[in-house]
Amino acid sequence: MEAYFNLLREQNPEMAKYIDMLQPMMDNKSVEENVSAVDPEIEKKIEKLTRINRRLFSIIEGLKTQLESELLQNDDLAKAIGACKECFGENKECPECFGSGKSGTNVPDFILYNKYVSPAIQRYNKHYFNKN
Ligand SMILES: [Zn+2]
Repeated sequence: MEAYFNLLREQNPEMAKYIDMLQPMMDNKSVEENVSAVDPEIEKKIEKLTRINRRLFSIIEGLKTQLESELLQNDDLAKAIGACKECFGENKECPECFGSGKSGTNVPDFILYNKYVSPAIQRYNKHYFNKN
């Protein structure tokens, strides 16, 4: 989980703020174990925080699934246009291409090109040049 959070922090600085807020809560799974004297007010707070924690875990699981799906789609699009899948050639510090992986750097994947790019070009030409 820690490695996954670090990856998310690197890829999305905006999300890093939320992860920093969530992580202490997630690391502290045994809040109930640490309370020896059971004060009813504290117990209610623990129950409330436990429910919130479960919801947050559920949200995180959903976000992980969504991120994995979007990363795969991003990789496919990069392959379709022959670009670096890490940065599309827009990051001079990219460990994969050092900023040289713009569109057309690699040979586009035949199937993915026909899936993603070709229909867009046809639509583009039809719209701007009235061609088929
Ligand atoms: Zn790159």
